[in-house]
Amino acid sequence: MKDFAYVRAGDVTTALRAIAAEPGAAFIGGGTNLVDLMRQDIERPGTVIDITTLPLDEIEETADGGVRVGALVRNSHLAAHPLIRTRYPVLSQAILTGASAQLRNMATVGGNLLQRTRCLYFYDGAAACNKRRPGSGCDALEGFNRNHAILGASDACVATHPSDMCVALAALDATVEVESVRGTRRIPLVDFHRLPGDTPDVETAIAADELVTAVELPASPIAVNSRYRKVRDRASYAFALVSVAAALEVRDGTVAGVRLALGGVAAKPWRAREAERILLDAPATEESFRRAAAAELASATGLSQNAFKIELARRAIVATLSRLLTDGSAA
Ligand code: SF4
Repeated sequence: MKDFAYVRAGDVTTALRAIAAEPGAAFIGGGTNLVDLMRQDIERPGTVIDITTLPLDEIEETADGGVRVGALVRNSHLAAHPLIRTRYPVLSQAILTGASAQLRNMATVGGNLLQRTRCLYFYDGAAACNKRRPGSGCDALEGFNRNHAILGASDACVATHPSDMCVALAALDATVEVESVRGTRRIPLVDFHRLPGDTPDVETAIAADELVTAVELPASPIAVNSRYRKVRDRASYAFALVSVAAALEVRDGTVAGVRLALGGVAAKPWRAREAERILLDAPATEESFRRAAAAELASATGLSQNAFKIELARRAIVATLSRLLTDGSAA
């Protein structure tokens, strides 16, 4: 691990000025991913700016009926909050499927957004990895790629985004608020993470000197009937092979509203717009769910070890929507 300086920022302005003054610096919150990356020599900040005491740990209802979540809210606190459990159950469920209880107690909302892929080659300094060292190649293409992407990948990188929380946020039309010395801006969650293209090392839409300060959830009556389904190799402490975040509203047997996002399939949470388009105003039946799932996965491509994820994703979509159909009827 490279030697680094440590400073603690007492307020947001101080934190923003500190990172603007030193481009190689990094913010640290819960540290559940950054510390691993520093130990492995993958991230080598000259200065670590501790932001854990900044006043960004509130969960508040907004004037328009949504919820604003501070970037330093711990994952476990967010999952357990009554506003989230009752209005956005998909988000609470998604968080609780991630990592372990100990990690959820440490990990922050902002850190969850910015966590990096768990591709094994990314963490192996001896491996070729365009994300870690641009231009070096990608050992996952012909290597161990069981957990890798089936949608939106490129010849440069086939990694997946590891977050469960972000999949739910994508389905819920969340917005990310970021601040820098230049001011504040808001980025739709679905535009926050990037597909790899030719530059897999560029993973998000934020600049190196910007700080995630909050995530905003819009008012979303449909989210009351929402659910997260995660398919993985172990029952806990495992990343998704495929996951589905969904919300469904049915009126008189017809789909009146639907939100759908997939995890474990791409370098970003995958908002399933094509499936949503097909489902809206369609009969709320398993047949419609199957048709929508097939359309969403039509452009999916399998690698040597992960082609099974295409059918798995189709089935996970159908199973999740079918369950919501039952849940909604019972409500
Ligand atoms: Fe690196 Fe991406 Fe290839 Fe993994 S899939 S080795 S992160 S370039």
